[in-house]
Amino acid sequence: MIQTNQLVDLKGLSPDALVSFLAGMGKEKFRSEQILRWIYQRGVEDFAEMTDLAKSFREELSQRATISKMAPEAVEISSDGTRKFLFRLHDGKSVETVLIPMVGGRSTLCISTQVGCAMHCSFCLTGTFGLERNLTTSEIVNQVYTVRKEHSVDNIVMMGMGEPLHNLDNVVDALKILYVASGFDYSSRKVTLSTSGLVPEMRELGHRIKVNLAVSLNATTDAVRDELMPINRRYPLAELMDACRRYPHAPHQRITFEYILIQGVNDSLADAKRLVKLLHGVKAKVNLIPFNEHSGSPLKTPDEDSIRAFQTYLLERQIVAIRRASKGQDISAACGQLKGKLENKL
Ligand code: SAH
Ligand code: SF4
Repeated sequence: MIQTNQLVDLKGLSPDALVSFLAGMGKEKFRSEQILRWIYQRGVEDFAEMTDLAKSFREELSQRATISKMAPEAVEISSDGTRKFLFRLHDGKSVETVLIPMVGGRSTLCISTQVGCAMHCSFCLTGTFGLERNLTTSEIVNQVYTVRKEHSVDNIVMMGMGEPLHNLDNVVDALKILYVASGFDYSSRKVTLSTSGLVPEMRELGHRIKVNLAVSLNATTDAVRDELMPINRRYPLAELMDACRRYPHAPHQRITFEYILIQGVNDSLADAKRLVKLLHGVKAKVNLIPFNEHSGSPLKTPDEDSIRAFQTYLLERQIVAIRRASKGQDISAACGQLKGKLENKL
């Protein structure tokens, strides 16, 4: 049965789709800019308040469209200032979003793109339970929208729950909404997408939109990466690194390689040496993340000396290697600890 009375959620429409939707109502393109400004710049979520639109137009809009809203069900604040927001979705599922304070008063928002994740990386709590579903474009956008009501958000990273390239269409539309000048107006330099390495989708992403790329590498041999990240069996290291070399990023921009250091698994100097080789010819920087221990995994964090030795090896070979202290550990807001409603299954 065709449903004719379904309202279109304007927060789920890319700027181009909004123009088409309004064209279907006989409206000119500039109307979409007016509406984007109301929603994203002035935070208005009710057509009645859009006072520079004719009353008849506002009424017609409310018969055909809606503007979805999201409110956090819970907010936890860590001793280091990190805030974790839990959002309940319309079907009862939930996702988490983390606001991380940075030096100089800036802040980074880590958003989710799926409920759960299908990639089953062995170290990651989100992956333990598999994929529940993709987030819609508006559910991705609403995480940013809602947090910005109360906090400034300077940078956005798609590094929360889920594999963004496994939900490519919705993620690309969400990025378009983040970038549009009459909307949030983020520069693409302020937004980073992190992937476990879905090679064909990395190529497609590069063709479709600009965004900083982060790749969760985590191993220097196929044998170890196969174990940690099953996606490696489909797209092994050589293919992944080739896709990285071809990624069309802006001049002076580098790909971030995330490397979780796990005791006895990938933290030896032989690994550091292989990592230097792997990165040869790639404009790269490396984020070293000591493994966050959690109840879903027997893996362990290396001792301080091994972490320092690994980092020093890279630095001495002119590789930018930054150690990332995972913030928000005390509220389970650190990398790989996000789990939303899945929590009570443990
Ligand atoms: N699916 C994407 C983005 C979300 S995962 C990806 O894998 O890149 C976000 C980051 O958290 C990834 O870099 C992942 O490697 C890291 N992560 C997952 N579990 C972790 C853990 N237990 N300790 C430290 N980092 C972890
Ligand atoms: Fe999914 Fe990323 Fe976790 Fe792997 S690390 S299971 S890709 S969220």
